[in-house]
This record gives sequence, structure tokens and C-alpha cells, in this order.
Amino acid sequence: LSTLKIAIGAMELTKKCVRDVMTDIDDVFMLSEDQVLNAETMTRISDSGYTRIPVYEGNNRNKVKNLLYVSDLALIGKDNNITVKAVARFNKRRLRIVDETMPLTALMDEFKMGDYHLAMVAKAMDVKKHHHGKFVDDSMDSFIMKSMKLVEATMLPPHSEDHPITLVGLVTLEDITEELLQSE
Ligand code: ATP
Ligand code: ATP
Repeated sequence: LSTLKIAIGAMELTKKCVRDVMTDIDDVFMLSEDQVLNAETMTRISDSGYTRIPVYEGNNRNKVKNLLYVSDLALIGKDNNITVKAVARFNKRRLRIVDETMPLTALMDEFKMGDYHLAMVAKAMDVKKHHHGKFVDDSMDSFIMKSMKLVEATMLPPHSEDHPITLVGLVTLEDITEELLQSE
């Protein structure tokens, strides 16, 4: 019976995109690069319960450029007043940004390849405009062109003045597997 459920879940998965399963940006626990890793911040991090924390530049929550792993904090003393920036830049955890319309099956393939299991999610309309830094011409919007664009555009560059993006969420492998297993 549960096998059947998973099979149905797998079929449902093919109809869904990242937006359908992501954690909304308002609920994402993030830190500013400028934050000092004092006892208070350490407590907030540990209370959050998350193992991977997006790190943004200054006070712009769209400018997420790094990830902080809680495990990176193991050797840091609370009294050194080291910044998030120092730790995040030292460890250089890979952070990917995907389009909210990316099919879940495509993201699952990405995750399956193995070197990352968390991605930030950006608002869709930004993708076309800033695809590889070039404005994409909508007149070529045949179905095939559209799908090609989607695949090529799954990995987006981080926010910059030239290519501003709006982050709308965060997605992990767990969000996909949950979708697979809980489906009725
Ligand atoms: P792990 O299971 O490896 O300890 P985790 O519990 O931090 O990691 P996941 O298990 O991958 O994270 O995801 C659980 C849920 O939490 C998912 O819905 C995911 O979208 C969400 N999530 C993960 N990281 C964050 C974060 N920093 N802020 C808010 N939600 C997050
Ligand atoms: P994630 O990126 O999903 O948050 P992670 O990279 O910390 O997590 P996993 O995704 O659980 O770790 O594992 C990635 C790979 O690293 C797996 O092949 C796993 O076997 C291996 N791995 C994880 N922890 C260790 C460890 N302590 N020693 C050796 N290999 C490990």
C-alpha cells in the first residue's frame, strides 16, 4: 500500500514546481554577514534548529551570497566576537539559486548529483530578464525555446546591481521527499 502511495506521489511530483514546496522567504532563518557571533547570536542559531543558514550582505535580504553551516561554528569561541562574514567566507559553502518555476523533478536531478541539497529560490520574472546577463527576447517564445531557457536558467547568479533578483524562498531535498511521501 505504501509503495502505491509513493508511486502516486512520484506522479504528482512531475506536475509540481519549486514554488509549490519551498519554505516561504518570510519564514527563512537568515543572518546578515555583519552579525557578530556572540553568545546571543549563537543561541538564536541553535534555537532555530536549522543546520544551514543563508547569509546576506549588509541589510539586503535579497543579497544572499553565502551559506553558514552550523557545523562551521563548532570551533568558534563565543568570546572572540568573530563575524558571520569571516566564518562564511572562510568555509565557502556552495549556494545555488533556482527559479521558482523550476520543475521539482529537475531540482531532484540536481540534488541527486550530490554536491548540494539546499537552494535559494528566486522570483520567476527575474530569470528571463537576467538570463546570462542578457535580456531574453520574448518573441522567440516557442514551447521548446521556453523549456530550454528554463533548463539553462535554473542556476541564477547572485543578486547584483546589474542583475537584481528577488528571493521568494528556500528549498531543500527534504521538501521534495516530503512531497513524495505524504501525498495521498
Ligand atoms: P537537516 O535535516 O540536515 O538537519 P534542516 O533540518 O536544517 O537540516 P532540512 O531537513 O533540509 O533542514 O529541511 C527541513 C525544512 O526546513 C524544509 O522545509 C526546509 O525548507 C526548511 N529549512 C531548511 N533550512 C531553513 C532555514 N535556514 N530557514 C527556514 N527554513 C529552513
Ligand atoms: P547537506 O549538504 O545535505 O546538508 P552534508 O553535505 O553535510 O549535508 P550529507 O548530504 O548527509 O552531508 O552527505 C553528503 C556526503 O558526504 C554523503 O556521501 C555522506 O556519506 C558524506 N558524509 C557526510 N558526513 C560525513 C562524515 N562525517 N564523514 C565522511 N563522509 C561524510
